[in-house]
Amino acid sequence: MKLFEYEAKEVARKYGIPVPRGRVAYSGDEAYSIAREIGGEVVVKAQVLVGGRGLAGGVRFAKTPEEARELAVRLLGSEVRGLKVSALLVEEKVCIARELYLSLTVDRAMRKLVYLVSDMGGVEIEELARRYPERVERIYVEPEVGYTSYMSRIALSFLGLPWSVAGELDSIMKAMYKIMVDYDAELVEFNPLAYTCDGRLVALDAKIIIDDNSLFRHPELQALHGRELSEYEKRAKELGFSYVELDGDIGVISNGAGLTMATMDSILHYGGRPANFLDIGGGATRDRVKEAVKLMLAHPRSRVLVVNIFGGITRCDEVAHGIVEAIKEAGVYKPIVVRMLGTNEEEGRRILEEHGIKVYVDMDEAIMTAIELAKVR
Ligand code: GDP
Ligand code: MN
Repeated sequence: MKLFEYEAKEVARKYGIPVPRGRVAYSGDEAYSIAREIGGEVVVKAQVLVGGRGLAGGVRFAKTPEEARELAVRLLGSEVRGLKVSALLVEEKVCIARELYLSLTVDRAMRKLVYLVSDMGGVEIEELARRYPERVERIYVEPEVGYTSYMSRIALSFLGLPWSVAGELDSIMKAMYKIMVDYDAELVEFNPLAYTCDGRLVALDAKIIIDDNSLFRHPELQALHGRELSEYEKRAKELGFSYVELDGDIGVISNGAGLTMATMDSILHYGGRPANFLDIGGGATRDRVKEAVKLMLAHPRSRVLVVNIFGGITRCDEVAHGIVEAIKEAGVYKPIVVRMLGTNEEEGRRILEEHGIKVYVDMDEAIMTAIELAKVR
């Protein structure tokens, strides 16, 4: 779960990390009074859970409180990178000498936390790591040791920062580690971390992602969960499916995480793009399958639905009944490509073929067919 920038900055502030003075605003008048309070030039920032707001016009500068009000009125209710803006952060404008990148995240392969450090702040880290890998330094944290100050010395020297900010950088990195642990975070990121014109370090942007699996330990955060989901994702969640939204045009229903991932890989391998995937889990009844198929048929972007089932405790005949009933009730036409084998496979195939739905045994064949259908439509 992502925290909004203003929430992440509140956390940072609480842990002693320097952030610009400012507060959240929900109206032009609030923006006006915060800007007056701050005095001088301010930054008005759209609070949406996506990066790259700067380039999309979601980060604006105002010289006067009146200007801040105007900008706020224009931004509130508008969309930034497809997301509706309902809150703004109004902050003092900081004079930047250098934009740096600093984050703490989990390296799953290494099973360690790792600090990522770069002197090219402002650019998104994925792009940075791809285009300028030599400009990103990785500093690993040994789990049995935790944070130690030498890590900040490595960062300081990699960034070419003066000794005068060594203590500051050390306390920022130490605080990041504490936040990471206390909040069960997956990411604590400051991009940019500014080296200011008067030689200080200030976190100009902040991003914190909390591990959803830890929310039971954070009742105060649990209430926030789900707010970044689209209406469609919320429905899938309410129905209790494990569902993930992607950006292609082929919908995927499968059972079990392994087969679902293999289906995704295979679609990508043959040049298709999954729109989403839904895992019906083990032993799904026809009613569950019906709900899943209906939901997936209603997805606005998917052009074709792939159902890839391996019947173990899941019975192919139950799945087949579910699909047939869903099609009857859905009232939407969308081609469905079914690949199914395992328990009660023959009965499942009979039911589907009776209703004119071809059943594939070979996964590659099914997926190539789906990709063709998506192209045609
Ligand atoms: P993002 O585009 O969503 O990552 O939003 P950021 O908060 O990172 O802001 C984008 C860019 O706006 C930053 O990289 C800075 O160049 C600029 N910016 C943000 N805050 C300030 C500020 O206080 N002073 C100055 N001079 N630039 C800022
Ligand atoms: Mn940023």
